[in-house]
Amino acid sequence: MSSAAGEAWKSGICAAVSELRDHLLQISHELHADPELAFNEHRASARLSGELAGAGFTVERGVGGLDTAFRAELRGSRPGPTVAVLAEYDALPVIGHACGHNVIGTSALGAGLALARTGQDFAGRALVIGTPAEEGGGGKILLAEAGVFEDVDVAIMMHPSTRNMVARGSLAHSRIDIVFHGKAAHAAGSPDLGINALQAVIDTFNAINGMRLHMRRDARVHGIITHGGDAVNIIPARAAAKFSVRARDRAYQRKLVGMLQAAAEGAAAATGARLEWVERRGYDNMVANPTVAQLFAANIEALGLEVIAPRPDERMGSTDMGDISQIVPAVHAYLAIAPEETPGHSLEFARAAISEAGDAAVLNGAKAMAMTLAELLAQPSLVEQAKAEFDDMRQGGLVAGLEAWREAGRAYAPLQPGAPQG
Ligand SMILES: [Zn+2]
Repeated sequence: MSSAAGEAWKSGICAAVSELRDHLLQISHELHADPELAFNEHRASARLSGELAGAGFTVERGVGGLDTAFRAELRGSRPGPTVAVLAEYDALPVIGHACGHNVIGTSALGAGLALARTGQDFAGRALVIGTPAEEGGGGKILLAEAGVFEDVDVAIMMHPSTRNMVARGSLAHSRIDIVFHGKAAHAAGSPDLGINALQAVIDTFNAINGMRLHMRRDARVHGIITHGGDAVNIIPARAAAKFSVRARDRAYQRKLVGMLQAAAEGAAAATGARLEWVERRGYDNMVANPTVAQLFAANIEALGLEVIAPRPDERMGSTDMGDISQIVPAVHAYLAIAPEETPGHSLEFARAAISEAGDAAVLNGAKAMAMTLAELLAQPSLVEQAKAEFDDMRQGGLVAGLEAWREAGRAYAPLQPGAPQG
């Protein structure tokens, strides 16, 4: 297919999304009004995958062993690249769709429906992959481990935000569970016979706080004390804390984990308490693929929006799309739905996810993602270029590649279903 045919395809996509406007916005609002938590997004998954099946996609539900995951495939007339748009649709406890995943799920659906209405004669396959549990449990990691991304050449998605961006990264992280075991004793009558596990937790916090001067600016080491003792007149025999350790790249994240471990071991030595240390898998850092990011940005700008470059001190969290970007060329774009200082995971952000701006992001996201996939399908040399860049980045140690990613994952205790991640 020529690039002129690609241009015609793109204008057809925009018209198709505009025709689907009311239908898509109704679905976005319905998802928002019916928030479902990680791994329990049964109604959202059924709704989105049902729409895709009705539009001619071949839909497989429960892929990768996850009940609420799906893989919807639109097959072209002949072999070619496999390009995917990823949908998220899980909500947060208590505050519902305060991360705006109703916008993500519905814009991915819109992209799929627009491709199905306009993609007559293309080479390759377009997928919509339903990925559960971004907020807790890392659905994309479980799907990747189960092989769901093995035949995917490029993966993209959008996320609502306060600014339009395509190249923002995200933080690599892991979660540490610390338990100190000491010895109970009467806190007034015989404190000299006890071993204070709480003191070891406090010393761990103090030691890591003392190290912050020596950490890079992107370091994030944040913890909570989950058990501090049982009664004020008993020397605590058991105390526990949880930490999340994050940085912009995995190599530095490993260094920070080493600092925290040294702090905890030092606290154990100082108090005589025994340290129990478990590191659980978290999300990898996001690395945007340059070719795909450029196409995606141009398609967002073609809709009359401005795409801005991330700041050097960009605020960011973590996402399991980071892991996908470590195994295939990927882009996680952001579209603004709220004023700049609106925090994510807030009631204001939840309201924005069904505001006029939230609705516009559903439609613009659907158009920009479908256009980006159409361009990749129309010009497979762009897919080859993206893959060549990915290989260069892999050789440079910027991304892992599937095998190394799987190997690295084995070093951790498994993800905890439902534990907060992003
Ligand atoms: Zn989110």
